[in-house]
Order: sequence, then structure tokens, then C-alpha cells
Amino acid sequence: MDLHTLTIAKAQELLSQGAISSVELTQAFLDRVDLYEGRIGAFITLDKKDALAQAGVADEHIAAGNQAPFTGIPIALKDLLCTRGVKTTCGSKILGNFVPQYDATVVEKLKKENAVLIGKTNLDEFAMGSSTENSAFKITKNPWNQDHVPGGSSGGSAAAVAAQFCCAALGTDTGGSIRQPASHCSVVGLKPTYGRVSRFGLVSYASSLDQIGPITRDVTDAAMMMNLICGNDSKDSTSARQKVPDFTTALDQFEKNSLKGMKAGIPKEYLGVEGIDPEVLAMFDQAKTILESLGVEIVEISLPHTPYVVAAYYIIAPCEASSNLARFDGVRYGIRDSESDDLIEMYKKTKSSGFGPEVQRRIIIGTYALSAGYYDAYYGRASQVRTLIMEDFSKAFDHCDLILSPVAPTPAFKIGENTGDPLTMYLSDIFTLSANMAGVPGISVPAGFSRAGLPMGIQMMANHFDEMSLLRAGFGFERALDLKPGFPSL
Ligand code: GLN
Repeated sequence: MDLHTLTIAKAQELLSQGAISSVELTQAFLDRVDLYEGRIGAFITLDKKDALAQAGVADEHIAAGNQAPFTGIPIALKDLLCTRGVKTTCGSKILGNFVPQYDATVVEKLKKENAVLIGKTNLDEFAMGSSTENSAFKITKNPWNQDHVPGGSSGGSAAAVAAQFCCAALGTDTGGSIRQPASHCSVVGLKPTYGRVSRFGLVSYASSLDQIGPITRDVTDAAMMMNLICGNDSKDSTSARQKVPDFTTALDQFEKNSLKGMKAGIPKEYLGVEGIDPEVLAMFDQAKTILESLGVEIVEISLPHTPYVVAAYYIIAPCEASSNLARFDGVRYGIRDSESDDLIEMYKKTKSSGFGPEVQRRIIIGTYALSAGYYDAYYGRASQVRTLIMEDFSKAFDHCDLILSPVAPTPAFKIGENTGDPLTMYLSDIFTLSANMAGVPGISVPAGFSRAGLPMGIQMMANHFDEMSLLRAGFGFERALDLKPGFPSL
């Protein structure tokens, strides 16, 4: 049996039967890493000995009859999530030597169940980007075609799952960073409702938009990870008190009722977006037909403020980033320029050499847009537009349970293709940014391949706290499509 192809659900079952051990499972993934990580570059930090030691402990727990859902399951973590005693770089030189003294809440939850934390994955610096090319350390390659990007910013996590370096991974999503790389790598990515998952220990990019979520091989595994990571946390005052359902029951709902009674809206503004690849449109049409065959009623809806989403997001996110990143000043965390003799000089030199060009660009934009003379014209205005976008969504959900769209206007682009053109890169986020602006959940499910063999995904969004609908419809869609090939050949 190829242990590296196992889903969380299957691995859990085999572990509980004693058919495999966590050490064997972890070793199978590490063998893949030995063979292919040189070509993919998914990880920033990987400690094989430590991973095997964690697996050994997990096996003892299982032998003692103490198996929780994630015991012994190898999971990778985006390197923006704090891990006690393990370097957490955020893909930045400025935190190149930062070792947190505490775990993020989601990491604590995984540790409590004795999951195997296999490594920290590559990302765009501070999660700013859509291709993982903005990492200070390496460029991650798309496992389906190594000339192409894996998407971003959680490109390392998505590539690690697709390349079978782990059962599943955690990513973060501020404007699409879970859903878009999942789509580009043919894996499942879910951004939960804002507030569903504690952000404690997640290094902030744009705090009012950031959410942690799962990147998995299939929808069942996404539901299982949601069960683990969701819930109120006293360490994050924005985490919701909302009841957490058993998300795996969404799959039973599909078994019982298929998707009968569900309504899916297609925003008329989305299909007129400039630059959508015809192959993406064809994939989207096919997805629509499949959903209809499962009982979904398709309706046309309107999200009238769609043309302003990219502009508003690219003001709000940099504003929040410029404030959040002010703490990286060479005094409290990470590297410090030790040559300067006065404080201001030290700040300047530390930041200039510690932050990469995209992060510096955003800090400058954000600081400018927040400055006294421009606040109302930029940040104030963008916040008003954000309210209108939220209203668009709440009105739309009066008419449907799901909103359907492609995840990205094109399949993964080539490495280097857009690096000189930040605006084109920003525009490629058109379908994913709104969910963060409105705080609603969104899932990306694999939906096909382009003629060149690059994956494409379909996005479904639902109303606040209705991840159950996403999982039910996602599961049905995945089942009906039965996409092959499931894995890239490396
Ligand atoms: N591509 C978007 C950005 O660069 C979203 C990134 C993210 O979700 N972290 O801001």
C-alpha cells in the first residue's frame, strides 16, 4: 500500500486497526520528501528526527487505547503559525531567526491530539502574494508542472499536500491564500467564516481579514480538520462564540438528501470579468451542470460592487499590514542591524534589509493611505466600500444558499510571469477577495485540468457560519466528478 496517498480519514482508520503505525506513515511521507522536495521546495523547516519521535509517541498513545482523531497523522503548518521552540519565519528575512515561546491555538489543538507536525511550509513573505514567489527563502514549484507557481500565499502547504509530503496542512487566507493555491494544486482548501478559528499565534497580516483553514486531499478531511480547529478561544477576542457543529455530518446530509433543495447563485458580474481563460469558463460550465444533476437549483444573482473589490482590498489589507508590521523594528523580534549608532538609523536599516520588496511596497501604501491628510480619501472610503460589499452578500444570501464562481481567472501562471507586474497579480485575486471582505466562508474544490494539464478549482461561498453547506455541496461535487488523476506524477 502506498501510505503517502492516504487521506486523514483512511490513515485514522488503519491506525486504529493497528494495520499501520504512525512511524511507518510518517516515514512514507519523509521518503517522498527525500525524493522530491528538491524539485518542489514546499518546506522552510523540516526536522525528520523530531517528526519520527512525535510519531513514536503517537504510536504509544494508540497502543494504550488513547487515539484521538489526529493522533499520529502527519500535518504540515504554514510558517506563519507560531510553534514553540521551532523557527517561525513568515517567509521573511526579518524573522529568519525567530523562535516563538508559545504555540498558536490551532497548533496546540493538534499537539493535544498527538498529531505529527511534520514541518513548516513556504509562503509569500507575511502572506502577501498569490504565487509564493515573494518568499525570502525559496520559490515553491507547482507539483503538477514545475515551471508554474503553486499559487499563494499558502503555496508551500498546498504543494506539500499535492506532492504527498503529508496527509494535510494548515494555511491562512486573507484574500484567497488557502483557496487559490488549493485550486492551482488540485487539493481542497477551506477558508472558514471570520471568527470561526482562533487567530491566536497566527502572525497577523490584515487582522480583520485573516483566517486559518485546512488544505486537504478531499472534502471529508476538510470537515475533519474543521472539527479540530474551530471554536471560541479566550486568547482571541475576535473568535466567535458560535456553536461548532460536527462538520462531518454534512457528508451524511449529502448521502441522505443529495443536494436537493439547495440553491446556488452565480453573480452576473463575475462572468464578465476581464481576462478569464476560456478553459476556466468551460470548467465552470461543467461544474454547474454537475451540481444541477445533484439537485441544485442555479439562479442568477448580483453582487453589484464587484468592480471595486480589488481596489478596496488593496487599500484595507496594506493599511492593516502597515500597522501590524510596525512591531518588526529590530528591537523585539528577529534580525537587527547592529552597525548603526542611533535608533532611527537602526530601524531604517533593519526594515530595509529585513523586508522584501512586496512587503515594503505594502507598508508604504498602507502608511500613506492612513496618514492624516489621506485617511478619509483612502482608508475611510475603502471601509465604506467594504460595507457595501458585505451588504451585497447579505442580500444575495436571501436568494441562495451558495455562491458559485471559479477560484481564479486562469490556471497557475508560469514562475516569473507576473513578478514584474504587481497590478496583474492583484487582479488575479478578483474571485477570492470578497469572501474575506464580507467575512463569509469559502471552499475551493478541484474541478478539472486545462489542456496543458494544470488544475482548476471551483469556489463555493456560503453565509456566515454555514460551512456545513459548503462541505455538503463540496462533497457531493467531488463524489460526482470523481476527478482523475488524483495525484501529479513527480
Ligand atoms: N493575494 C492576496 C494578497 O496578496 C491574498 C493573500 C492572502 O490571502 N494572504 O494580499
